[in-house]
Amino acid sequence: MSVYTVRSISDGWRVTKFDGDLNVESSYAVHGTLCECPQASRGYCRHIEILGIFQAASRIDTGWFLDYDKGGEWLPPLKTGEPTSAPVPGELKARPASSPGFQFQGVEGIRRI
Ligand SMILES: [Zn+2]
Repeated sequence: MSVYTVRSISDGWRVTKFDGDLNVESSYAVHGTLCECPQASRGYCRHIEILGIFQAASRIDTGWFLDYDKGGEWLPPLKTGEPTSAPVPGELKARPASSPGFQFQGVEGIRRI
């Protein structure tokens, strides 16, 4: 799966392609009807077409993703500011480096032997 976003830049637009995990696969600037991608010089470029789709839908700079390979299916912008499953660095620092309870259990084990 690959999806695209379009955002405006100072002298045109930037079309960015993402893979299924939303890692950037490629990103090309489009100036008017000229695209900087390698395919453009060979006479075929999908970025101009994708830009046209975003313009028609008024979704430039909105964060919406276009799934071009699925025939132009739209995916909503990512929600930001929500907690993720990844631990917050501050919470990791708040935990003690060593646990007194664990050390006590170790002593008990030695006494049983
Ligand atoms: Zn292109």
